[in-house]
Amino acid sequence: MRHVRLGDSYLVRLDTDEEVVGAITRFAAEEKIDAGSLTGIGAVRDIVLGYFDRSAREYLRQTLTGEWEILSLSGNLALKDGRPFAHLHVTLGGREFQTLGGHLFEARVGATVELVVRPLPGYQLRTLDDATGLYLLDL
Ligand code: ZN
Repeated sequence: MRHVRLGDSYLVRLDTDEEVVGAITRFAAEEKIDAGSLTGIGAVRDIVLGYFDRSAREYLRQTLTGEWEILSLSGNLALKDGRPFAHLHVTLGGREFQTLGGHLFEARVGATVELVVRPLPGYQLRTLDDATGLYLLDL
């Protein structure tokens, strides 16, 4: 991973084979980003997507094979149990130009992943919400 700070934001480049969610979480910890937003593009493989089944109060998980373009990655950064937590969603494009998307649990970088990370001042907590069973932004 490489990064440069430009004004209030960071440009971040993830390298081939890095795990995306872990790399973003480590970056937030190293740069002490306790709240923020991010966007990204690139390519990934070994992808695990989620869809939250609200009645079952759990995520359905789907593993994708092959390499996919990240058409859009967006998310936010907050603190969960005292540690940075990245909540990420992606829209992916396949070699037949089909699209799929969902909550991003994990993925390995293909050629590259390019992110813009925008820290927000202060910090933001996520706490367990009994009604949904999810760790929601504690606003
Ligand atoms: Zn989500």
